[in-house]
Amino acid sequence: MDKYDYLIVGSGLFGAIFAYEANKKGKKCLVIDKRSHIGGNIYTENIEGINVHKYGAHIFHTNNKKVWEYINQFAEFNRYTNSPIAKYKDEIYNLPFNMNTFNKLWNISTPQEAKNIIEKEKQEAKYLKPKNLEEQAISLVGKTIYEKLVKGYTEKQWGRKATELPSFIIKRLPVRFTYDNNYFNDMYQGIPIGGYTRNN
Ligand SMILES: Cc1cc2nc3c(=O)[nH]c(=O)nc-3n(C[C@H](O)[C@H](O)[C@H](O)COP(=O)(O)OP(=O)(O)OC[C@H]3O[C@@H](n4cnc5c(N)ncnc54)[C@H](O)[C@@H]3O)c2cc1C
Repeated sequence: MDKYDYLIVGSGLFGAIFAYEANKKGKKCLVIDKRSHIGGNIYTENIEGINVHKYGAHIFHTNNKKVWEYINQFAEFNRYTNSPIAKYKDEIYNLPFNMNTFNKLWNISTPQEAKNIIEKEKQEAKYLKPKNLEEQAISLVGKTIYEKLVKGYTEKQWGRKATELPSFIIKRLPVRFTYDNNYFNDMYQGIPIGGYTRNN
C-alpha cells in the first residue's frame, strides 16, 4: 500500500473530487468502486443519443458561486431548470405546489384565495394529533392537495397505505404562493451537456 498516499473507496462525486484535488497536490490516489463504472449515483450512460441517468435524474444545483465555477471547469452545463409535473388521472399539476397548481385545482388566481381554501380544508379536518401520515398531510395542506398530489405518490414510494405510515415521515410540505415552477431555490442549476460521465 505504500505506493499510494490515499485509498479512496467510491468513485462518486466525493471520491472523484477528492482524488482530483489530492492529485493536484502531488498525492497518489487509488480509487476503487464496487460498481463497474465511475461517478456513483450521478453516472450517466448514452443510449441511442440520450444521456440516461441510471440512478435517477440528477440536476446539479448550488447557491454558491465558487462551487458553480469550480464544477464548470469539468463540463459545460445546459440551462435546465427543474420544474416537475405530476399526473393525477388525466390531470397535470406543477410541483412543488404553487399558484399554478392552485389555479388548476380551484380555478383561483390570487395567493389569498389559495390560502383561504387550504386553511378551510385544514380546519375541516381538525386533526389535532395526527395519528398517521394521511392525517398529518391533510393537517398540513388540506384534503384536495393530499388526495391528488400526496397520497398516490407516497403510497407508491413506501409500498404501504398512507394510513399505515407514521406521521413523522412528513414534517412539512412546501407550499408556494407564487407562480414559480422552479423546484430548487438555488441560484445555479443545470446538467452537463454530454452527461456526467462523458465517454471520450
Ligand atoms: C434518485 C436520486 C436522485 C438524486 N437527485 C439529485 C439531484 O437532482 N441533485 C443533487 O444534488 N443530488 C441528487 N441526489 C443526491 C446525490 O446522488 C448524492 O448527493 C451524490 O451522488 C453523493 O455523492 P457521493 O460521492 O457521496 O456518493 P455516491 O454517488 O453514492 O458514490 C458512492 C460510491 O461508492 C461506492 N461504494 C460504496 N461502498 C463501497 C464499498 N464498500 N466498496 C466499494 N465501493 C463502494 C458506490 O458503489 C458508489 O459508486 C439524488 C440521489 C438519488 C438517489
